[in-house]
Amino acid sequence: MPGKNFLEESLKVIATCPVCQQKYNQQTIKVVEKQSDSYVFHITCDKCNSAVLAYAVQTPMGLTTIGLLTDLQLSEVKRFLRQAMISENDVLQAYQVITAKGEDFASLLMNQNNFNK
Ligand SMILES: [Zn+2]
Repeated sequence: MPGKNFLEESLKVIATCPVCQQKYNQQTIKVVEKQSDSYVFHITCDKCNSAVLAYAVQTPMGLTTIGLLTDLQLSEVKRFLRQAMISENDVLQAYQVITAKGEDFASLLMNQNNFNK
């Protein structure tokens, strides 16, 4: 479990804009997604206006952060994250399909090229 100051520590690491090195205004740092051991931030630089999507995760080795320049707005990021969310039911359903099909599962996958059309 992350410490209480996990969020604070993350923000210390993600403190400056990678484009112009401007120190981030705390007001522009938004938590998009919060898990027990990880955060996703959306940060907009108020100097050069570039946006960064940052992922911070607590590992046994310490805090790790990954930052990506993005042209997505905060609302768009939220929408994408919602779409990508996998529920327990999805996992269960996939598990049931795989176990029910057994060895046929691989060939089933190969025959599913038109699945989304
Ligand atoms: Zn900047």
